[in-house]
Amino acid sequence: MKRTLLALLTVLLISACEQTKSPPTKTESTAVANPFKVWTWLTAKSDWTDSTYQSKFQRLAESGIDAVLINTGTNPAELARLTPIASEEGLEVHAWIMAMNRPGDTVALQHPDWYAVSREGKSCFDTRPYVGYYQWMCPTRPESRGHVLNLVRGLAEVPGVASVHLDYIRYSDIFLPIGLLPKYDLVQNEELPEFDFCYCDKCIEKFESIHHKNPREMEHPELDLEWKQFRLNQVKAVVDDAYKIVHDNGKILTAAVFPYPEMAARMVRQRWDKWNIDMVLPMIYHNFYNEELDWIGFATGQGVSDLSARETELHTGLFIPSIPADQLKEAFEQAKTNGAKGVALFDAGALMEEHLAVIKEFTTQKND
Ligand SMILES: [Zn+2]
Repeated sequence: MKRTLLALLTVLLISACEQTKSPPTKTESTAVANPFKVWTWLTAKSDWTDSTYQSKFQRLAESGIDAVLINTGTNPAELARLTPIASEEGLEVHAWIMAMNRPGDTVALQHPDWYAVSREGKSCFDTRPYVGYYQWMCPTRPESRGHVLNLVRGLAEVPGVASVHLDYIRYSDIFLPIGLLPKYDLVQNEELPEFDFCYCDKCIEKFESIHHKNPREMEHPELDLEWKQFRLNQVKAVVDDAYKIVHDNGKILTAAVFPYPEMAARMVRQRWDKWNIDMVLPMIYHNFYNEELDWIGFATGQGVSDLSARETELHTGLFIPSIPADQLKEAFEQAKTNGAKGVALFDAGALMEEHLAVIKEFTTQKND
């Protein structure tokens, strides 16, 4: 009898312990399974079959890659087709969207007034800054930002997707990365009017209603801090709304951003340490800025430090075409030792067998 009671008590005690143990949060369970996460960006191609995708996803997964960010040109049906194929191979799927820069968007093109307008008064609808694929939406106008958020919703509703991943979530570059200037035969020692956005009627009207001054009439709008802050806030407002939408659909929000917040704010009006977002993947592409490999560590550490008051995770983006396989481990170490929770590789198509071998070795060690 005594022994039975003891056994019963033990069973009760164990079940009580199990009941009081709270379920692991997503972060905890991910942290155990993946102490250092490896992602890669991949652009879907219309002529790839299911079996093409299967073999590509298998190659990535077998190399120790955990997650794939897929650009389907904002096509939820295509994403719904590819997600189970990637999941079957063990990859986490993220819905990569070109957010504010939407070249050739057939819905937006019906509305010329949705596009961002430069200080020169030219619209991205027909005047594209720098490159043919730059067609930026105004982040302030309710219809254009609403359009982008509807697209975010469409991707967030796809079953099996882990996050919606915002790319081009910013203004057009007021300054290009210094390493790219010779390619465009440009000198940018100051904010040039043709690259300065958005001076559309809606932006000016909203800014004037708050601050009682008009940037179009300023001799030096680049020196007006309210005008700068206003634009940082317009981008933040789109992100914060996207955060609510994806969370309502049980997903998380991630984004590709410029290297560290101060730099992002100056170059593209993107202050990402102020956003409501789960994870950022800064594009710490050292060669774009004529920097060396240790700059990956600097920029990672700066971003991690700037995020210290928030829950947002930072995963360092690396530009694979400029990182030979024999430097890849060092790049990973720069990110990891400076506080990144992972690395994201641009892009899957640039990953050579030698790169995959390094990833495999690194990820095998990480799980030991
Ligand atoms: Zn505008």
